[in-house]
Amino acid sequence: MRTDTGHVFKLEDYRPSDYLIPRTSLDFRLSPDATHVTALLTIERREGVAPTAPLVLDGDALTLLGVAIDGHALAAGDYEATPDRLTILKPPAAQCFELRLETEIAPSRNEALMGLYRSNNVYCTQCEAEGFRRITYFLDRPDILSVYTVRVEAPHNEAPLLLSNGNPVERGALANGRHYAVWHDPFPKPSYLFALVAGALGKVAGSFTTMSGREVELGIYVEPGKERLAGYAMDALKRSMKWDEDAFGREYDLDVFNIVAVSDFNMGAMENKGLNVFNDKYVLADEETATDADFANIEAIIAHEYFHNWTGNRITCRDWFQLCLKEGLTVYRDHEFSADQRSRAVKRIAEVRTLRAHQFPEDQGPLAHPVRPRRYREINNFYTATVYEKGSEVVRMIRTILGPELFRAGMDLYFERHDGQAATIEDFLKVFEDVSGRDLAQFALWYHQAGTPNLTVSSTHNAAAREFILEIEQSVPPTPAESRKRLMHIPLAFGFVGADGKPVTWAAVEGATVDDGVIHIRKRRHTVRFSGVSERPSVSLNRGFSAPITLSVQQKADDQFFLAAHDSDPFSRWQAFNTLLTDALIAAFRQILDGKEPVFAARLAELAGRVACDEALEPAYRALALALPGESDIARDIGKGIDPDAIFAAREALARIIAETNRDAFSALYDSLADNGPFSPDAASAGRRALRNILLDYLSLLPEGAALAARSVILVAALAVLAHRHSGTAEAEQALAAFEARYRGDALVLDKWFQIQAGVPGAQTVDKVRALMQHPAFSIANPNRVRSLIGTFSSANQTGFHRPDGEGYRLFAETVLEVEKRNPQVAARLATALRSWRSLEPGRQAKAKQALLDMAKVENLSADLRDIVERTLA
Ligand SMILES: [Zn+2]
Repeated sequence: MRTDTGHVFKLEDYRPSDYLIPRTSLDFRLSPDATHVTALLTIERREGVAPTAPLVLDGDALTLLGVAIDGHALAAGDYEATPDRLTILKPPAAQCFELRLETEIAPSRNEALMGLYRSNNVYCTQCEAEGFRRITYFLDRPDILSVYTVRVEAPHNEAPLLLSNGNPVERGALANGRHYAVWHDPFPKPSYLFALVAGALGKVAGSFTTMSGREVELGIYVEPGKERLAGYAMDALKRSMKWDEDAFGREYDLDVFNIVAVSDFNMGAMENKGLNVFNDKYVLADEETATDADFANIEAIIAHEYFHNWTGNRITCRDWFQLCLKEGLTVYRDHEFSADQRSRAVKRIAEVRTLRAHQFPEDQGPLAHPVRPRRYREINNFYTATVYEKGSEVVRMIRTILGPELFRAGMDLYFERHDGQAATIEDFLKVFEDVSGRDLAQFALWYHQAGTPNLTVSSTHNAAAREFILEIEQSVPPTPAESRKRLMHIPLAFGFVGADGKPVTWAAVEGATVDDGVIHIRKRRHTVRFSGVSERPSVSLNRGFSAPITLSVQQKADDQFFLAAHDSDPFSRWQAFNTLLTDALIAAFRQILDGKEPVFAARLAELAGRVACDEALEPAYRALALALPGESDIARDIGKGIDPDAIFAAREALARIIAETNRDAFSALYDSLADNGPFSPDAASAGRRALRNILLDYLSLLPEGAALAARSVILVAALAVLAHRHSGTAEAEQALAAFEARYRGDALVLDKWFQIQAGVPGAQTVDKVRALMQHPAFSIANPNRVRSLIGTFSSANQTGFHRPDGEGYRLFAETVLEVEKRNPQVAARLATALRSWRSLEPGRQAKAKQALLDMAKVENLSADLRDIVERTLA
């Protein structure tokens, strides 16, 4: 484990390396406790660098066995080796030389799951961001592109399968039951994309013919016996390969493409060139135990990692500050893929819900940072919703501003100009400026400036002058280390809706550039005058969520109700209804704090009923509309003095009124949605199930609800409804016990069992979580299990985690420190659950702060955890 050095890496300090490594040959003799690694590196001194410049290679917890240059072992005084660094003090005068390094590592003892480790007796690697330096000394930075040849050797019975990046070139048997394989990747790549997998795994085979007619062999490797669970992933992979050809003209470039699913993995998946390694959660699924969200996630993540082949691998990042160059862009690409495969409107709403739930709190709290950060202490902590999700929104805005044709032309130019390079955000923006002739300097602030911009909008209609006026004002709130903000270029898509539900047009406009239904906000204030508007329209703003902003519109509730029923933009229609629900919940929250019974307008519950039963809307859309804003969404909109119990009570009260008002309609609709045919994971079927599940959630609030949920309890969704809405009842306890007995041997399904119980609202769940940590199936070393129990409890259970006596925080802090001893990365990720502690009411706030202070005072904290804890407290 690397303890915190306190070193701050700064973007402006970037310098090209003095040395390059054009070729890398690796030889692995695998053994769980003593794997021998020989690295043969072709080192090239950069033109103009003095031959006296020492060569400094990165390491992390390495043991050096030998070092030689051009075949001659180095003498003790020629180099300095520590576990974290190897310095060749006097490199040869020749511009190019060969460095041979021997190191020994112990994969079986690697619990940080970075570098080479073992998961269920399978050797696998994770090298992003800085894991390669745990394998051998190297210039472990993304701008060092090297052509790799990898030889892997192991006993055949332990590891019949030997995989690495690129194409297979040779394999064979050796003495003593050993065997070897050699892989060669012709495409230069940074070390973070290196991968090796070895073990006994089952294979699902497939093939794909690319647009130029090349055959690519596809393989998905899973734990033996689980092959039948990988069919959907294989199908998603083929669709992804085809889509990238159609949508972006990108063809796959190697002879093979392999995916390996492992059960111990720090992230979702990793895009290593030609050899993706996945958390098995995002590969394995069947109809009995996977939820529709699981299928959608598998499709999206398979696509995401595949798309990295061009956005990330062929064109990589110059340095880790540019992480969004590959991640934001690739998330945008996987969002577009899912929108094309499924329903665009539904997908967009789901994306925005995710952005608001994860990125907005980040942007509004102590961990706020720009999409392209300027400094970091620990890069592992910047795999954030801001880099990924907001990074994707920024790419989407470029497309909105330029239009689809110029956007595609810009992407084509990007691939043409930067293929084989390590690029920057400036390079990316430049291609769009070059194809469009536009100046994107102000727009670039989206990459450089943290914080969610706010737009305040009011409107007036002058009937006599037939003029409609929008007053728009932008502000960007201060964020850590950025007190003064510059004005942004915000593309605000909009429309006017007349009393008949039809679009209202105008004759002329002044006060801002308006094109293609988009107002371009560039100044602090715009008074935008639309002439020739004879009736006062309802204003539909930020259509399709054209910009990741918060919007305060001075608009009457009547207008919101009207838009919730008539807006032709499906996103904005959903938004109008969601705004009504949020406003009602915030009002109820305040009533509860004042000791009153919450009151809701009858027409809100009636509108919910009409949306639920509107056959013109897709079932998946209706399901999303009926999902009340989450407790943390409501908390975020309230902002300060949060009492999670009062929010929970407000939400329950509204849900109950909606259920009671629509009892008969919901009941009939629920029955009509029963799935009788064979299971299909497609979007339309999933949408019907989603609607049915949310109706069940409402109906379970009625007296007859528990029995209804208990009847359908085989489904994970129904188990969650029963356990959450009727916790502690005999029905719930029996259902949980039966589920556990049935799926005891299936880790991924058992994760759901832990997750459901960690999410049960209420004060008693802290004790339940403590008890579950003693369950024989709980393992603090397995990230999926930890995330299911502790992650769910701390980030998705507002009333349990924020128990007024602080017991939830205490359990949390203890557990994070326990996880940290093995896996600092996972611990640091968990610790972000307290990022919004300042918005809590004073009592909870003091207790949350104490938990953070308790973590901060621990000595020798890892770089990962100390960075999060200290920034959260700052
Ligand atoms: Zn990615």
